[in-house]
Amino acid sequence: STFEELGLSRELLQGVYAMKFNKPSRIQATSLPLIARDPPKNLIGQAKNGSGKTACFVLGMLMRVDTKVDEVQALCVVPTRELARQIMSVLETMGKYTGVKVFCAVKQTEEERSSRLSTIRDHVIIGTPGRVMDLIKRRLFNPATVKIFVLDEADVMVDTQGMGDQTLRIKRALNPQVQTLLFSATFSDQVQALARRVAPNASQISV
Ligand code: AMP
Repeated sequence: STFEELGLSRELLQGVYAMKFNKPSRIQATSLPLIARDPPKNLIGQAKNGSGKTACFVLGMLMRVDTKVDEVQALCVVPTRELARQIMSVLETMGKYTGVKVFCAVKQTEEERSSRLSTIRDHVIIGTPGRVMDLIKRRLFNPATVKIFVLDEADVMVDTQGMGDQTLRIKRALNPQVQTLLFSATFSDQVQALARRVAPNASQISV
């Protein structure tokens, strides 16, 4: 199949080509039509690094974001700062023709420490669970406006002290109707328990 057939907007197709992707990988071809469905449905994806899963949820977020509206509409939590920064860069490249603004929550900035940070109105927030929960507690963005919630490397999260619980707490702060996408390389009982709670009634795909 081709990216043109996947129903991406012109701006997102340009973004895909800016990444120098010619044709969708297997997980992209199968998951993107599911992710784009209306009404939105939750999705659980079993996929390893190298499968092209990042583009699935990055495009999923960009499809749901209306850049004319200055509020947080997509939230992505990942287990490490390094991964957050990598995804931030993919979001910025793929989204460069949409005008998307992304806030990366990986460590407290000087601006935040001194309480000078005002309400975040970027379209997407990407960060580690602890930092994202901190932003919610301090009311630095409105969780009720989030339309799509993404968890990447859920297997690493459940293996990291406290991250699974923090992720659940974040999920509870969001609108119950939020579309949730969860990706994990493996599906231990712990990952399945988290998946059932954050992404109920999800479609499942595995590559
Ligand atoms: P990921 O599994 O998302 O970490 O992606 C693994 C690598 O494959 C990254 O370097 C991507 O830039 C690249 N990649 C993902 N999708 C495609 C595609 N459709 N065509 C070419 N390269 C891709």
